[in-house]
Amino acid sequence: MSSIADNINSVTQRIEKATLEKGRKPHSVRLLAVSKTRQADELREAVAAGQQDFGENYLQEALDKIANLQDIPELRWHFIGPIQSNKTAQIASAFCWVHGVERLKIARRLNDQRDTALPPLNICLQVNIDNEPSKSGCSLNELPALVAAIAELPQLTLRGLMAIPDPERGEVALRKSFRAMNNALIQLRQDQPGAGPLDTLSMGMSDDLELAIGEGSTWVRVGTAVFGPRQQKS
Ligand SMILES: *Cc1c(COP(=O)(O)O)cnc(C)c1O
Repeated sequence: MSSIADNINSVTQRIEKATLEKGRKPHSVRLLAVSKTRQADELREAVAAGQQDFGENYLQEALDKIANLQDIPELRWHFIGPIQSNKTAQIASAFCWVHGVERLKIARRLNDQRDTALPPLNICLQVNIDNEPSKSGCSLNELPALVAAIAELPQLTLRGLMAIPDPERGEVALRKSFRAMNNALIQLRQDQPGAGPLDTLSMGMSDDLELAIGEGSTWVRVGTAVFGPRQQKS
């Protein structure tokens, strides 16, 4: 059985190989270790291997781990799950990134509830790029108005876009969806340059990170390839 440190090593190699093969700048793609369902001890193993960014989907589980690991202040916590509006206050205070913002109401709440003593919360807008009824995310058409409104919120920094394309549709369709995300981000940078850094594409997971990197991903969110298979699928 390979250790978490070995896994991080091989995922990092996959990332750097894909980055170079696609002619992108070294280290322009970062690894977000998706630690949902994992124990604090497993995260500590990842930290020992140099990992500092962790993605969590379930708020209470995340808060428990954040408390458990508070002796390591350099960790950065990313909320990547769906966001219910009654959870925004805790998300706004415990996390440094939120990847799945999909509507203005949630963005406003996160902004209003982010302590002004903290740096602004980094957010990505989730796009339902394959228009799947079961998935969260706004549509590409909704993006420009959403971005313009979020640009006015001082406690949020709009970093970019996030998507989870449907892997069942195959490699050609996946690549097309990743490319559409990259094009959308480029368009936003052109049309609304003051809206935020817009330097981030959060896309690609254990099975498709190379494809995502080929189309401009800057954060790959990787769970299984870092920590091994999860007990229940989530
Ligand atoms: C679980 C999850 C991942 C990681 O998936 P793996 O296939 O285990 O790498 C990435 N992003 C989100 C939003 C997730 O919920």
